Amino acid sequence: MEVKFFDAHTHAHFAAFKDDYRETIRRALVTGIGLVNVGTQRDTSRRAVEVAHEFENEPVYAAIGLHPIHTAKSHHDENELGGGESAKAFTSRGEEFDYEYYKKLALDPKTVAIGECGLDYAAFVREEHERLQKRASAEASREGGLTDDEIKLRKEKQIVAFIEQIKLAHDVGKPLMIHCRDAFKDLIDMLTANHQILNTNNPGIIHFFTGTTDDAKKLLDLGFSFTFGGTVTYPPKAGMPDYRALVKYLPPDRILSETDAPYVAPVPHRGKRNEPAYVVETVKKLAEIKGISLEAMAGQILKNAERIFGIQK
Ligand SMILES: [Zn+2]
Repeated sequence: MEVKFFDAHTHAHFAAFKDDYRETIRRALVTGIGLVNVGTQRDTSRRAVEVAHEFENEPVYAAIGLHPIHTAKSHHDENELGGGESAKAFTSRGEEFDYEYYKKLALDPKTVAIGECGLDYAAFVREEHERLQKRASAEASREGGLTDDEIKLRKEKQIVAFIEQIKLAHDVGKPLMIHCRDAFKDLIDMLTANHQILNTNNPGIIHFFTGTTDDAKKLLDLGFSFTFGGTVTYPPKAGMPDYRALVKYLPPDRILSETDAPYVAPVPHRGKRNEPAYVVETVKKLAEIKGISLEAMAGQILKNAERIFGIQK
């Protein structure tokens, strides 16, 4: 097949696709779409590598890592891990980053990035917001609420796991696949403090970027690229980034497309289970914003993906 499009961040190996991941990936491949299945913890990381090998000679790759929300008790998402007891037990305890376990996966030739890793403070921001609304004290006043100490501890756990993964990316010479929510200040501080062990020419990608143009500038200066998904096809909404302005601002060689399937399907599939084949809708929108043809946008993104992930044609 000739690769024309690239889905730089997807989860076609998650439980949401357990009955039809092969067909789902085939639908992408016949459309000329290459893809990276991204792990979020031990099992989904191992699975991403296994699925990449099932499509040995096809442009199906893996990213492996520990997502920041999985460093502690987290919301259980059946689309990610399935509904089984062991999956539920996992989300109720979280995971400590096991360097050697992930290093083995990282060295696999089909693995093209380390992640998703990073920082996710969204739950903590929500927590503080609820407290303000209730005018509650610093003590958690409802069931499941987090105290200030717990929030601090959870942030520390995320930071420790992220630093380990920055080291891993450095040790194996592969780029980072970063997830960041409501934590851009800490993220940029951490990356700046560790810039000496970032792979200078190719430190990695900020997936599903939701920061400001100012954040983007700092991350560009550090050498990062940015992926955009279904949300660029949605009408602008208060509280969400101005994607149009962001995409216009970013140099073409720092932009990639993604689906983050099974989540956030682009228009006209919005609300349905997302899949890699839908990445074309996002590329169409990126081309429109950049004022270039679909072919030119797709070609640029493919070039970027080949450079960043070290993929040969
Ligand atoms: Zn993801």
